[in-house]
Amino acid sequence: MKLQYHSPCINKECRNVNVLQEYKRQIVQCEGCGQEYEFIPTKTVKLSAYYRAAGNLNEENPKDLIDKLSIYGKILELIGGIYGDAFNDWGMAEAERREIIANGIYHRPSVDGGETPSSDKKGEAAGELLAKEARRKEKKFEAEKERWRKAYDSTSEQINIMKKRYDHLVNVAKGGV
Ligand SMILES: [Zn+2]
Repeated sequence: MKLQYHSPCINKECRNVNVLQEYKRQIVQCEGCGQEYEFIPTKTVKLSAYYRAAGNLNEENPKDLIDKLSIYGKILELIGGIYGDAFNDWGMAEAERREIIANGIYHRPSVDGGETPSSDKKGEAAGELLAKEARRKEKKFEAEKERWRKAYDSTSEQINIMKKRYDHLVNVAKGGV
C-alpha cells in the first residue's frame, strides 16, 4: 500500500495542497505557485494519509475489507501514539502549573521581575495571573488528551465492527447464514 501525504502550501493566497510521496522532512516546491517551503512530517499528517487510503476501499469486498482492517490496525497504533504524546503534554502542563503555584506561595514574582515576599500585593496578583494562564493551558491539553482517548476507543469499536462484517461476508460466500 502506497500512502500519499497532503501538505498545504504555506503561501496563504495559494491554497494549493501538494501531494508528497514520502513521509520525511523535505523541501517542497509548490506546484501551484512555485513557493518553496519545508514539510515537517507529523503523526496527524500520517493519520490523514491512512484515512484517505482506507476511504478508497470497498467494505463489501472481503479482500478490500482485509486491507481496510490492516490500515485501521495502523491507525489505532498511531492514535495510541498521539494519545501518549497528548498525555505527556498534559502532565507537563500540570507540573508547570503546580510549580508556578508553589513559587507563588514562597516567592511571588514582583512587577520589576525580582522576588519579593508573599505579602507584596502586586506580586501576589502577578503570581495569580501566571497560575491562571497555566491552568488555561492545562485545561486545553487535558481536552486534547481526552479527544484522542475517545478517538482510540471509537477506532477500536470500528475495527470490531469490520471484523464482524468480514466474518459475515465469509459465511455468506460459504453459503451459510
Ligand atoms: Zn503554493
